[in-house]
Amino acid sequence: MVSRVIPVDPFDLVIFGGTGDLAQRKILPALFRRFCAGQWVDGAQIIGAARTGYDSNGFRDVVRESLKTHAAKQCQDVSALESFLRRLDYVALDGVSDEGWGHLARRLKPGRVRAFYFSVGPRLFGPLAERIEAHGLITPLTRIVVEKPFGHDLDSAQALNATLAAHFTENQIYRIDHYLGKETVQNLMAVRFGNMLFEPLWNSQYVDHIQITVAESVGIDGREEYYDRAGAMRDMMQNHLMQLLCLIAMEPPAKFDPDAVRDEKLKVIRALDPVEPHHIVRGQFEGEGSGYRQVVGNERSTTESYVALKAHVSNWRWAGTPFYLRTGKRLVARSSVINVMFKDAPHSIFGADAGRHANVLSIRLQPNEGITLKVTIKEPGPGGMRLVDVPLDMSFAEALGPENQDPPDAYERLVMDVIRGNQTLFMRGDEVEAAWAWTDPIIAGWQARGDVPKPYDSGSTGPGDAELLMKRDGRRWQGINP
Ligand code: NAD
Repeated sequence: MVSRVIPVDPFDLVIFGGTGDLAQRKILPALFRRFCAGQWVDGAQIIGAARTGYDSNGFRDVVRESLKTHAAKQCQDVSALESFLRRLDYVALDGVSDEGWGHLARRLKPGRVRAFYFSVGPRLFGPLAERIEAHGLITPLTRIVVEKPFGHDLDSAQALNATLAAHFTENQIYRIDHYLGKETVQNLMAVRFGNMLFEPLWNSQYVDHIQITVAESVGIDGREEYYDRAGAMRDMMQNHLMQLLCLIAMEPPAKFDPDAVRDEKLKVIRALDPVEPHHIVRGQFEGEGSGYRQVVGNERSTTESYVALKAHVSNWRWAGTPFYLRTGKRLVARSSVINVMFKDAPHSIFGADAGRHANVLSIRLQPNEGITLKVTIKEPGPGGMRLVDVPLDMSFAEALGPENQDPPDAYERLVMDVIRGNQTLFMRGDEVEAAWAWTDPIIAGWQARGDVPKPYDSGSTGPGDAELLMKRDGRRWQGINP
């Protein structure tokens, strides 16, 4: 099956921070891949804007090198690469003064989509928004894209929302959570709402509990200062895991449109109970000479690199079905997966020897994106009626053909959605604030109690207390499998 590519009209995309890590590693490679797929056509231009004093050719040289690493497959087509680079331009400017803005204004074309990507630290969001307006660059087709972290707590998120709202309307603001751009995450909605099979069972009557795991094998190299101020709760739980929880728990929206979807997600966050202190486990990785505290250079740091918790969505659908969420650094493998753990059949007609088997729907985000349903069948062969679990595997590559072996990177989908003006997969301001309103008391509780994270070995599955969190409820985590 060949996927359909619908080209977009010519646009101007300005990447503030175009020389930075995110732009070079994610945004520009994503744009190049969409260019190679034929999604954008002649006339579109991408303007890198940052402090470094490159000219356009200097910028193109930097991007060429990055693409060779981060879009190696597409770079084999040298003419496509050079054709893409010709559409790049560069303006040296300062986000906190008026230097360079006149040059930028002259490069922008009227009457077309104009997107400003804020791929810079959050302290620049306000100054950039202010200058975009002051230099008369806002048109009806203008959009801005902002990256995480969106605030450090509720107060700062509210302040940031207010700052952006002083210059842009909500439908011009695209807050990125790249997890929402992942193909499997969108597939989760397709599976839930495109099939009759799952939705009738998608509630506390049939679902025992839900596990959401975002395990990373990497540490925090290069982001030490930021991370030690943030920790896993702010860096991952408040945004990525919360978004996944919303998509699993939300009611079916009336249609797949931005506000209908985001209204339902918001209701989920608002229905979350405060988390009991004994339903949460914090951890910090250890390692000979490379433990968390050594890495961040702070022997007394009490920042968590791991967090596991039990959450309750207090509404009619989910009352009594816990959501167990965990995320951490330096774990045994890189693996993001949602497991919907169904209840046992109420009665086994096969007797005790056959064992008890419950269905599990696993939604794998990375690696090996795909969806697996574990069903119970008879163990082959003569003899008694013994049951075994087998996976019904919906791997993209097998189901949709080899051309779908490499699902598009999340940024490909999200950047093109900005150009198309589709906000469905972006967070609305009130969602972000509601997520902070749930997170803040948890962090305040740790601070008030002087909570110290539990140590765990690098390369393990996390602190033992996280296993106990489950064990106390007669449950256990599914394995962290690469
Ligand atoms: P970076 O430090 O690598 O790049 C920052 C960019 O901002 C550079 O191009 C720099 O020249 C530019 N810049 C700094 N001060 C400026 C000024 N006064 N005027 C104009 N330009 C200025 O940072 P990054 O890792 O690319 O991250 C950018 C943003 O994206 C941050 O908010 C970060 O939290 C977020 N983010 C990054 C990643 C990632 O993987 N790197 C992932 C998620 C979110």
